[in-house]
Amino acid sequence: MSENTRKIIIAGNWKMHKTRHKARELAEAIVAAVKHHQDLPEIVLCPPFTALLDVVQAVQQSPIKVGAQNMEHRTSGAFTGEISPTMLTDLGVGYVIIGHSERRQFFAETNASVNLKLKAALEHNLTPIVCVGESLDEREANLTDSVVSRQVAAALTDIPQTESLKLVIAYEPIWAIGTGKHCPSQEANRVAQLIRRTVSELYRNDPASGNSDKVQAGDSISVLYGGSVKPSTIDELMDQPDVDGALVGGASLQAEEFVPLIESSQKRIKQQLSRV
Ligand code: PEP
Repeated sequence: MSENTRKIIIAGNWKMHKTRHKARELAEAIVAAVKHHQDLPEIVLCPPFTALLDVVQAVQQSPIKVGAQNMEHRTSGAFTGEISPTMLTDLGVGYVIIGHSERRQFFAETNASVNLKLKAALEHNLTPIVCVGESLDEREANLTDSVVSRQVAAALTDIPQTESLKLVIAYEPIWAIGTGKHCPSQEANRVAQLIRRTVSELYRNDPASGNSDKVQAGDSISVLYGGSVKPSTIDELMDQPDVDGALVGGASLQAEEFVPLIESSQKRIKQQLSRV
């Protein structure tokens, strides 16, 4: 897979918003808005756990996919309050966000727990969207590249290359999440390139990896950007060759803001198709 064939993805992280009724309404509005569109990206809606089934049902007759915002890595047992991978697949969920910075910040998730969850997601055929990104302090101390590459390497520890190709990585600088602060698109692209290089480097000596004239592992995965993406910033973002879409918080909560993001990504898909 290369730039021309990587999946373009627009994912909405609804965080702790929307009751079941409101979630169904929003999902139905998005389904209706994209119904006659062609060349759609992969659209992934990630409501809270309580609304997952409602959203799965609302998107049933459409190509839209549903994701969870988190999960426990173990399959079952005495883990009060947790939701397992099999519980998600049982509902018809296909994606799961792993290691969102809010989970790392408020719920003590670590690179090690991200790795366990990533392995569990892959084992249960859930497509993981693994979030990485630096804090403002880290950026100001010029630590962006080392923090991001360390998070990527830790997430992928002991994951075979063939499995790694199924994952999606979202670069989400923490200082840009929910703040309205804009990470320049060229900078998002630069970090996306760094993520690809890091993944390729991890599998450089893997027998399954290609030699230098074959496509590298890092070129095959979808890398998204997340952090205050809005209809006004998406076009420039989708022009970046190493950014394959967006993970969107605030602007995913209303169809009027989310649908234009989908429409912008369609231009990129049309360009891809015209090159094939
Ligand atoms: C997010 O929660 O992943 C996110 C990117 O949020 P926002 O778009 O609101 O910055």
